[in-house]
Amino acid sequence: MTASSRSQTRQQQTIKKSVSCRGIGFITGAEIEVHFHPAHTNTGIQFQRTDQAGLPVIPALVEYCVPRQRRTALQNGECSLELTEHVLAALAGLQIDNCLVEVSGVELPGGDGSSLIFTEPLLEAGIEVQSAPRQVLVIDRQISVKNDQRMELFVRPANQAEMQIGYQLDYGPRSPIFPQVFHLSISPETFQRELAASRTFVLQDEVEALRALGYGKRTTYQDLLVYGPEGVIDNKPRFVDECVRHKMLDCVGDFALLGCDIHGYFQAYRSGHELNRKLIRQIRTEYRGELESGSRQKVA
Ligand SMILES: [Zn+2]
Repeated sequence: MTASSRSQTRQQQTIKKSVSCRGIGFITGAEIEVHFHPAHTNTGIQFQRTDQAGLPVIPALVEYCVPRQRRTALQNGECSLELTEHVLAALAGLQIDNCLVEVSGVELPGGDGSSLIFTEPLLEAGIEVQSAPRQVLVIDRQISVKNDQRMELFVRPANQAEMQIGYQLDYGPRSPIFPQVFHLSISPETFQRELAASRTFVLQDEVEALRALGYGKRTTYQDLLVYGPEGVIDNKPRFVDECVRHKMLDCVGDFALLGCDIHGYFQAYRSGHELNRKLIRQIRTEYRGELESGSRQKVA
């Protein structure tokens, strides 16, 4: 029995029609336009930079990830794309497997710091069920990664044929962000209800440091959650535990970089994008045989 044959599979899905959104990029401050187009089975998620000569394509796979602090960037040859995690979360959360995503700049628009800027047009497009089954990798053993900043992340076999994520956020007793724990079985329904609207957060001290580096010049305290010593500044949380929900949203986006469904139980302690990518790379290495024998999109 192979790892991909002993779990319930679903059909691949795309969107019914092309839709778009636009907004300001958090890093460059540029106005960015995004067009989502339906795509054939086994295409996977492909980004296309429409502002570059030759319209280069970047597959949304961990093989194309490049090291970045606090975000997930992809690169194919000379062409890169920043801040992909929230659109990847929106697509994975809604189980849209095949989609061409045209982007008119070097980053995705930030929207309100959540994935709503993407889920809203994608839901308006509607979901089209396709003729091929979606590949699923069933985790049958524990794989764990950690780093020297006390972050840990592991995946184990799940007790259901689904992705389950548990996340423990803990920035220590002096942080204005209190410790938070959240568990969720990931499905389109739970993603939309519990995660999609949760926003990026940052500490006030970090904001000025980021601005000094040239980031976020057009981003205000209303565009994401900024925490000062007394809590959120000039904004209102959507959930009391919005931070941990957002960390889980980031996990959904980063875990999608394996290019197939994963049935397993993920447990994260303070994990971020870098550790998320490390675990997905490790899963890809350990399950290489199962992944290559299935219908996961081919890597150019
Ligand atoms: Zn995020």
